Amino acid sequence: MFHSHYNPEYLTSDIITGEAVHAFGTRRGGVSTGIFESLNLGLSRGDDPEHLYENYRRLGAAVGFTPEQTVLVHHAHSARVDRMGKQDRGMGLLFPQKEYQDGLYTNEPGVALVVFTADCTPILLHDPVKHVVAAVHSGWLGTAKGIVANCVNALIRDFGCNPADVEAAIGPSIGSCCFETDRDVPEAMVKALGPEAEPLSFITHEGAPEGKFFPDVKAINVLWLHRCGVKKIDVCEECTKCRPDRFWSHRVNGVKRGNMGNVIMLKEE
Ligand SMILES: [Zn+2]
Repeated sequence: MFHSHYNPEYLTSDIITGEAVHAFGTRRGGVSTGIFESLNLGLSRGDDPEHLYENYRRLGAAVGFTPEQTVLVHHAHSARVDRMGKQDRGMGLLFPQKEYQDGLYTNEPGVALVVFTADCTPILLHDPVKHVVAAVHSGWLGTAKGIVANCVNALIRDFGCNPADVEAAIGPSIGSCCFETDRDVPEAMVKALGPEAEPLSFITHEGAPEGKFFPDVKAINVLWLHRCGVKKIDVCEECTKCRPDRFWSHRVNGVKRGNMGNVIMLKEE
């Protein structure tokens, strides 16, 4: 189950336990102005760096991390996931990113992993047994490439995680109500996952134009998680496009917008 918190506004999932702090950001409760009003946590869109820093400070003060602890992803709609550590702290906010990736993971406490979304699907992972966290940006391309499965497999490979221990929270993103696509998107999902993905991908809505489909990207990510043995999964039902007052939505705002930040960190002793 997801819970709302205010000033600044963010959501948490009660599937993620104890030693990890986390937040799915909204667009409300920050200091950015104009097209970034107000809780913009995205780097690349031209917001004032001082506003951006203050937004991280405010969210971090509420959630339990500092701007200096953050490691910001450098999206490329890829399936690449990279291991991060204390030496990477400040990447994105305090010094430029070099590599591109769409998922971050770490077993080091005090490293706040951040992925951005504005309709794409954010997924936060935590293994309370091996003490590992991960943050994944899974847009439709990343979903078709199985980035969340890549990430779980990296946790198994690098830390010996048992997927049955892994807690997965799928945050606010565009829902099947609004994600209108051509045939290429559901086809890519079924190509990747087989017939089991068909009813989740070739969804039609009454009155929608001929040849348009409404893939349920959250449900497809759940299928990826099930395939790699993750059972503890919480899905946020909120649709970013249905609630542009609360969330940044690429489909609503185009490129003139901010980004949600989705954060997870192992607490330091
Ligand atoms: Zn919607």
